[in-house]
Amino acid sequence: MSTLALFDIPSSIPNSPSKPTRKPKAATADKSAVLRAKMLEVHERLCHEYECPIAYFHNLDPMDELISSLLSHRTKNADSGRAWKQLKARFPNWEEALNAPVAEIEEAIAPCTWPEQKAPRVQAVLREIKERRGEFSLDFLAHMSVPDARAWLESITGVGPKTSAATLAFSHLKMRALPVDSHHHRVAQRLGLIPTSLSVGPSHAVLEAMLPADWDAQQVYDNHEILMLHGQRVCHHHSPKCNNCVLLDICPTGQKLTANQIKEP
Ligand code: SF4
Repeated sequence: MSTLALFDIPSSIPNSPSKPTRKPKAATADKSAVLRAKMLEVHERLCHEYECPIAYFHNLDPMDELISSLLSHRTKNADSGRAWKQLKARFPNWEEALNAPVAEIEEAIAPCTWPEQKAPRVQAVLREIKERRGEFSLDFLAHMSVPDARAWLESITGVGPKTSAATLAFSHLKMRALPVDSHHHRVAQRLGLIPTSLSVGPSHAVLEAMLPADWDAQQVYDNHEILMLHGQRVCHHHSPKCNNCVLLDICPTGQKLTANQIKEP
């Protein structure tokens, strides 16, 4: 059977209305295998399209990457990049940023979205790290397993799975963690890799579990980058360019959208 044939999953046999039943374990395992195969197909095609391996865009230390990632939430890369540069120029060390009036942080990070919310959050995160570790360094995470390092980061108030994964994957630690941003999440939903009801936070564990266990950090990073790039360049939030998409034949959303275009007079 070709890999693509795997994607034609028959819909599940309807349960008797009077007897709700659980899905048999074998059916669940089959569906997981189909989704993993589909993820690999998507990865292969998009890697070809965007020329993997993708160069790392940062080589910050993990402390800097954590703060940079907090600024990037729901913000265009160019704007969060400007906010980051301004923050570092104004506060060359984190001790100064922690002790500064919050209005100064807010002013420095003004190019990103919601600076009034992010400024106190940045200071709260800095304070918590200083209290727990006695210094502004996260290099100790390199000696932990990825799940333990992520759990440590996510125990900080305001740090979720995207920020923890970004801190480990994008910094000079280059650990094997999969961040999922809104572009990545949207493309995965449209492709049917995850249900439309699954929000970004919980989608991290589901999407990462689909990747082969023997993939290294670069391959996991590539997977995030290519899905994100595809969301930015082709699978736009509004008006995705399905007719130019290399995934159209395996994308249920794209097939529905293009079928509707054909039906229109
Ligand atoms: S076919 Fe359309 S909806 Fe599907 S991934 Fe491509 S651009 Fe997105």
